[in-house]
Amino acid sequence: MNYCSQCGAPVALRIPPGDHLPRHVCEACGTIHYQNPRLVVGCVPECQGRILLCRRAIEPRLGYWTVPAGFMENGETLQQGAARESHEEAQARVEIGSLLAVVHVLHARQVHVFFRAVMRTAEYGPGAESLEVTLVAPADIPWDELAFPSTEYALRRYLEDRAAGHEAHHFTTIDRRLTRAGAGAS
Ligand SMILES: [Zn+2]
Repeated sequence: MNYCSQCGAPVALRIPPGDHLPRHVCEACGTIHYQNPRLVVGCVPECQGRILLCRRAIEPRLGYWTVPAGFMENGETLQQGAARESHEEAQARVEIGSLLAVVHVLHARQVHVFFRAVMRTAEYGPGAESLEVTLVAPADIPWDELAFPSTEYALRRYLEDRAAGHEAHHFTTIDRRLTRAGAGAS
């Protein structure tokens, strides 16, 4: 952030009085622009034993596979967001079920939340952000062509729980902040 969205003046990065982290502070109007993690919400839709996957038509990870997921909008619940993304990306109507996984993606400043979901009918197709959409058997999931680590985490936990006959919820953290700096030097 370079300029204040309130008044247009340049902002400075400094720790406000009483705070403990650097913030973008407007020197002109005094507004403190807090930046907090963004929520990504998605689901693992199942239809008669097969899993709905979308191949991404947009960056990042264009051409790779994921489950329906995207940024949560204001004014909706997590479950509504997951259902909306399924419709937008895969033209699928899903019934959102239990909480599956929460993935803290620290380097991306995001929290990814995944639910289980059921498709009552095998009706789907590519939305604007998908090249193709398909239902795959668990044995046919393209593990080497998944878009994001959080996608893989959600799918693996989903299948493990399904095989075990229960619906747990799972937490994990992905942090590539250090490896990114190292990659720049190599
Ligand atoms: Zn300002």
